[in-house]
Amino acid sequence: MSTEKKLPNILICGTPGCGKTQHAARLKELLEFQFFNVSEIVKEKQYYESFDEVYQSYLIDEDRLLDELEGPIAEGGCVIDHHTCDFFPERFFQLVVVLRTNNDILFDRLTERGYNEIKLQENLSAEIMEVVKSSAEDSYAPEVVVELTSNTPEELEANVQRIIQWVGLYMSQDDGDDGDDDGDDVL
Ligand code: ADP
Repeated sequence: MSTEKKLPNILICGTPGCGKTQHAARLKELLEFQFFNVSEIVKEKQYYESFDEVYQSYLIDEDRLLDELEGPIAEGGCVIDHHTCDFFPERFFQLVVVLRTNNDILFDRLTERGYNEIKLQENLSAEIMEVVKSSAEDSYAPEVVVELTSNTPEELEANVQRIIQWVGLYMSQDDGDDGDDDGDDVL
């Protein structure tokens, strides 16, 4: 049986427009991981139960989605991009990145994306109320969760470099942890 350490699995989450897909795209250029954009999988494979016309969003069939992800997650080396994080099993991820964006910037990005007024306000409010951050903190151990700001291209690049450094550190450690719980081994 191989005792080689598996690559970590990373979740990138955050309010729509925070830059998850951009971060994943940049990481894809630099890391030989498998990348999964949940929204694309859900649409492509029709892993949804219904579509909400007002909020223009799918009610995801979580069981089917998780069944699909189980195999790759077991292999390791996955980056998953999704706005929420609470329905994934905690064991899936060794790192959960919560992206955060200032509200005026997020407003511009979501307006440009053509969100209707209800969806726009819902997402701006979620970002102000730190909904995704709270959900990540409720769902994962503190040392797994890291919050990164994503307002500018420079921040995006810095975040990507930090994630890559973290992967290197994770792989160099015997157990993925330096033995203390002060969080300095996260990012
Ligand atoms: P998400 O996947 O979280 O919905 P995207 O990655 O699609 O967000 O980004 C939404 C928009 O915001 C895109 O036009 C993208 O270029 C821009 N964007 C995202 N992150 C940044 C950033 N850190 N700096 C500048 N523009 C960004």
